Amino acid sequence: MAPILHSIPVLPRSPAGLRPPSRAKAQQSYDVCIVGSGAGGGMAAYALTQAGARVCVLEAGGPWDNATDSAMLKWPYDSPRRGASTPDRPFGEFDACIGGWRIEGEPYTTAPGQDFRWWRARMLGGRTNHWGRISLRFGPDDFRRGDLDGLSPNWPIRYEDVKPYYDRVDRLIGIFGSAEGLPNEPDGIFLPPPKPRCHELWVKQACDRMSITCIPARLSILTRPLNGRAACHYCGQCGRGCATHSNFSSTNVLFPPALATGLLETRLNAMVREVTVGPDGLCTGVAYIDKETGEDRQVRARVVVLAASACETARLLLNSRSSLFPDGLANSSGAVGRHLNDTTGAWVGGWFPQLMDGVAHNEDGVGGMHLYMPWWLDNRKLDFPRGYHVEFGGGRDLPGYGVLGGIQNYPAGGGWGQQLKDDYRRYYGCTLGFSGRGEMVSNENCWCQIDPDVVDRWGIPVLRFHWQWSDHEYQQVKHMQETFRSLIHELGGTPWDAMPGPERGYGISRGGEIIHELGTTRMGDDRRTSVLNGWCQAHDVRNLFVADGGPFVTQSDKNPTWTILALSWRTSERIAELMKQGAL
Ligand SMILES: Cc1cc2nc3c(=O)[nH]c(=O)nc-3n(C[C@H](O)[C@H](O)[C@H](O)COP(=O)(O)OP(=O)(O)OC[C@H]3O[C@@H](n4cnc5c(N)ncnc54)[C@H](O)[C@@H]3O)c2cc1C
Ligand code: SF4
Repeated sequence: MAPILHSIPVLPRSPAGLRPPSRAKAQQSYDVCIVGSGAGGGMAAYALTQAGARVCVLEAGGPWDNATDSAMLKWPYDSPRRGASTPDRPFGEFDACIGGWRIEGEPYTTAPGQDFRWWRARMLGGRTNHWGRISLRFGPDDFRRGDLDGLSPNWPIRYEDVKPYYDRVDRLIGIFGSAEGLPNEPDGIFLPPPKPRCHELWVKQACDRMSITCIPARLSILTRPLNGRAACHYCGQCGRGCATHSNFSSTNVLFPPALATGLLETRLNAMVREVTVGPDGLCTGVAYIDKETGEDRQVRARVVVLAASACETARLLLNSRSSLFPDGLANSSGAVGRHLNDTTGAWVGGWFPQLMDGVAHNEDGVGGMHLYMPWWLDNRKLDFPRGYHVEFGGGRDLPGYGVLGGIQNYPAGGGWGQQLKDDYRRYYGCTLGFSGRGEMVSNENCWCQIDPDVVDRWGIPVLRFHWQWSDHEYQQVKHMQETFRSLIHELGGTPWDAMPGPERGYGISRGGEIIHELGTTRMGDDRRTSVLNGWCQAHDVRNLFVADGGPFVTQSDKNPTWTILALSWRTSERIAELMKQGAL
């Protein structure tokens, strides 16, 4: 079916760029204070300023502007490091995202014997500066798992409540894909998808033989100009930040029009310590540390929106203790920090002799996959609940550092000199990897709390994580392993390693490793079991809202950011409405 493209007015670019106004001019009181500038915070800043609110965004990281800061089109040999990773750029020195699994001076801990990894960004735009831009809507079933399998509650809202905001996000930001009419994979308002690359077509043929659904990917990258932004020129380097603003990041798409309203002030290097509360139990603003001077500062606002990412928002609430809220702000249910979710993951790679000695050609494409496999099976015939989708990669895009690492393991590979160079040419492009991304069932052993003994460099207590997968997830990942290995064999390839057994959890990812943490400030109709209502408004504090992944009730196998954006827009509109009514 032909893709549909609705046009909306061209977004104004900010004459001031993405730098914050000087502090001397900064106002001290705002309609809304937003903590965090990633997907959730950026969208709240955009939607609230469009609605006429005076907004202050506080961001713990520094500035970033893809037009000037991106390393797009650099060759590996442009750097003596050849692009290898650095401590604050674990995905390589050309990566656009400053942050990582560990941040100096900002530790977190895990309960004894448990394992959890927490990936944080520290910069304007947060993790949207790197993310894979896989932009999937949750489907109708994803909002009502309580009705379907009873293993989790339903959301207090339905797909129909979020659909208008998904539509708006599609139109504003731009997404490519194809209308497929699949039951729980709603179509969006798509730009045309890029053509599949050679290896992708080849995998699709195997999928067709095995009755696995394989369709064009859905990524927030422009294949046509949209709203004043240029179309992608297929350099394949989205992770480095797009200097032509052709892919989505909060910095590329949401901050310029928000700043252009003149209603937004952005304070960078502002590490928020807690939400401040008045004697009436309502928020008065936030207290933060100016990281450049070390000074304690405050921002006053009528409404506070927390969008610091799911776990960091839970941390802020738990650290906002007072006589009115001794267990942390908005935590009368005790649910803050509970119901922590992450996507399940497993990866299987292999090599394929048929792809050896390929004809050299450019297949860079967009900076991500052109095809993927949405969940295609019926759980009633399986021994695990919920589903997974498959992301896969291979081909002959720009080689980076470490390319074909382990070449000595290929038949007759390795050696040195001319033979090694020839082997690189022969084997380049003959590997493929399949990654499963699945829905976990949230359980009481996955949560976070304040560590009573550890503080960060500013004396703010840090999070301690607890994590245990359950059999649901192990069975699901076992199925991923078996499927990917069958696919590799169907393609005539050889998996890199033997399938891991139950003693290795079938190769399941570590908690947090897929970087989709959600659920720590769950929404619900019952204030005894949930933190927020269906508008992401705190049950206990009516002028406090959450706009990151914290409100999610269940995970879905879909990557979460398109839903974070849609919910943030919906929440922001609600805030604007309530303010107009004088209810906030
Ligand atoms: C490598 C990678 C690939 C990914 N791929 C995908 C994908 O393909 N599809 C998808 O849907 N999702 C993907 N994700 C996940 C996606 O990036 C997140 O879901 C999304 O960015 C979360 O948005 P957020 O606004 O909640 O948090 P963030 O984007 O993390 O933004 C939070 C911001 O808050 C700031 N902050 C935190 N604490 C404080 C504080 N105390 N005071 C002030 N500021 C604070 C942080 O510095 C940060 O800038 C990926 C993530 C990574 C890292
Ligand atoms: S692949 Fe396209 S969207 Fe990505 S960085 Fe290159 S031009 Fe920008």
